[in-house]
Amino acid sequence: MNVSETIGTTTQTSRRTVKAVLGCGEHDRLSASFLTGLRCSHRWSCVPDGVFSRVRASLQRKQPRFNFSQQFIPAGYKELSIPANPLGTGKDRWRLDPNALHLWPRGQFMMIAQPNHDGSFSCTLFMPFSREHSPTGSFDMLKTEVDVLSFFKDQFSDAIPLLPTLLKDWFARPVSPLCTVRCSPFNYGGAALLIGDAAHAIVPFYGQGCNAAFEDCVLLDELWKEHDGSTDAIFRAFSAQRKPHVDAIGELAVEHYHVSCNPITAIFLAVHK
Ligand SMILES: Cc1cc2nc3c(=O)[nH]c(=O)nc-3n(C[C@H](O)[C@H](O)[C@H](O)COP(=O)(O)OP(=O)(O)OC[C@H]3O[C@@H](n4cnc5c(N)ncnc54)[C@H](O)[C@@H]3O)c2cc1C
Repeated sequence: MNVSETIGTTTQTSRRTVKAVLGCGEHDRLSASFLTGLRCSHRWSCVPDGVFSRVRASLQRKQPRFNFSQQFIPAGYKELSIPANPLGTGKDRWRLDPNALHLWPRGQFMMIAQPNHDGSFSCTLFMPFSREHSPTGSFDMLKTEVDVLSFFKDQFSDAIPLLPTLLKDWFARPVSPLCTVRCSPFNYGGAALLIGDAAHAIVPFYGQGCNAAFEDCVLLDELWKEHDGSTDAIFRAFSAQRKPHVDAIGELAVEHYHVSCNPITAIFLAVHK
């Protein structure tokens, strides 16, 4: 919040940007066009537009020697819901222990459930898209209601009573991909700076994606004071200092996926936590 106030970033929640155009030449600027027809251009911008960042795509075209890689893992994810217990009061509103991360490790795939304040759990199934990566369970093997139910009976039978809307959720919700994004530099001179997932998306298995984005804000705040508001110096220093740290956490996150899926190492992980 402090950084956002200091550097004057704007939050656009109701207007989706359709185009981000980086200007060239003496008056380099980031211009944004909105679906509403509004266009705007700022002297400089910090851009947190997520893993499939449009501004990063503009940087790829405009920035000479811009490094970029996007590495998908074989697994994707589907979100399912464990609702609150409508008859429960106090701690009984949660159908599982609300002070724990619940993990169903199954080798090549796993399901997790995380508690919400209202008594429900957000449940996520991480699993390879294709059976070639996981013959015992993959999204492409589960096409019909019978497929899904028999898979859950085999693999997660204890979770079935917790998932009353399993079939509805399964067919209504997409399977989303997971990838690690690496790029450098994060800045376009002093005109634009990518932050958060736009600069360094990581797979979620270390639970550090949000933290990495918050760390960006802390560093930006420090550099802002140190360089007295010169965005050229701030953005360059940010890019150089942040890169090794986000690369390291990105690698750990992919390694941790394999550890979490393994039923043996998952037990040690749970005990350790
Ligand atoms: C399944 C899953 C589980 C996760 N679990 C965890 C966890 O337990 N802990 C953790 O720390 N992290 C977790 N993460 C990672 C975390 O969600 C991200 O690291 C974090 O949300 C990154 O924040 P961000 O603001 O950079 O990007 P986002 O949260 O993706 O925000 C980007 C915003 O930009 C907007 N946007 C995109 N394009 C445009 C456009 N063209 N115009 C206008 N707006 C646009 C989007 O609508 C969105 O609001 C998880 C991720 C996934 C996929």
